[in-house]
Amino acid sequence: MDPNRRAARIVELLSGEYPETGSELVHRTTWELLVATILSAQCTDIRVNQVTPELLKRWPRPADLASAEQHEVEEVIRVTGMFRRKASSLRAAAKIVSEKHSGEVPADLEALVALPGVGRKTAKVVLGQAFGISAGVVVDTHVRRLAQRLGLTRGDDPERIATELESLIPRTEWIAFSTRLILHGRRVCVARSPRCDVCVLDGVCPRVGVPR
Ligand code: SF4
Repeated sequence: MDPNRRAARIVELLSGEYPETGSELVHRTTWELLVATILSAQCTDIRVNQVTPELLKRWPRPADLASAEQHEVEEVIRVTGMFRRKASSLRAAAKIVSEKHSGEVPADLEALVALPGVGRKTAKVVLGQAFGISAGVVVDTHVRRLAQRLGLTRGDDPERIATELESLIPRTEWIAFSTRLILHGRRVCVARSPRCDVCVLDGVCPRVGVPR
């Protein structure tokens, strides 16, 4: 099966398997989603969800977090790892959002990646989840692994993989496709022992690099 047909079939099968495509990061506002996404770097969503209620209760608005003490923020987010850098990024991003964007998260890729702690992946997540803007396929560790196993890329660099997936998947599907691949990577096509015997993609997956 050629990659275009395989990609179309994968989109179809994953849509049936995961009808809901909301973020697993708990949030009520775009600002809260941005904070949670910054914290999620090299950290599980479960752990992020453990700290955001306290963080956002103490400093609910960007202006509050911008004026928070560094050591106090570090204490609250410690369990998410890289807590010093994340605390610095959060405070600096909060200051820019508060002062330059009137407290509103900008719905613009370039403005988002100008915020400390926000790379293209985080920006795409926020644009997709909060604004419904398809800025690109989000490639995290799960998406990279699954794209390779599914034979949708031969690359290893996230930006290259994103470009390849964007050429195979309709733009209208980019947001949901990223989310669904991430869910599938967490639940079925896990890193060490993929559960091919129960996988909905078994019939279309070439299982690249997976021992039979
Ligand atoms: S068939 Fe196996 S390798 Fe392919 S997506 Fe499913 S779990 Fe992953």
